[in-house]
Amino acid sequence: EKENILVSACLLGVNCKYNGGNNYNSEIKALASKYNLIPVCPEQLGGCPTPRLPAEIQKGSGRDVLCGKAKVMRKDGVDVSENFVKGAKEVLNIAKQTNIKLAILKSKSPSCGKGKIYDGTFSGNLIDGNGVTADVLEENGITVLSEKDIDKIELFLRRD
Ligand code: SF4
Repeated sequence: EKENILVSACLLGVNCKYNGGNNYNSEIKALASKYNLIPVCPEQLGGCPTPRLPAEIQKGSGRDVLCGKAKVMRKDGVDVSENFVKGAKEVLNIAKQTNIKLAILKSKSPSCGKGKIYDGTFSGNLIDGNGVTADVLEENGITVLSEKDIDKIELFLRRD
């Protein structure tokens, strides 16, 4: 039986990005020959419309949003933290139902980002940290890797 892998839906060509587009990645899609790729978009699952205004975590990481120390703010100044936390919980529920060990998530996103995210100033600056969903999954023992870490993904998938 094929192992299930959770994947940011935009990487598989789903038009769930804030601007109505996607981040199709052929290397990630090619994993479908050996694994069941389960597409999820935490922002849509959290009730955000598509298209939507971009949002960034203000002064913090996903972890800080979860404990109320930072907020996810839309570019027009609206606090969308609740949507992002709800989306992360929905994704965690799907991950548990499908016995997920690995999630491949889109880099830099305030939901999906792993390792680096935007700093909240909407100016393209990156800081260390994960998005809200990436942190929730990691806190629950799921390995999270960015689509940019194809070497690490292959290494993880070769494990016994
Ligand atoms: Fe892609 Fe994640 Fe953004 Fe959805 S929330 S569009 S899956 S990066």
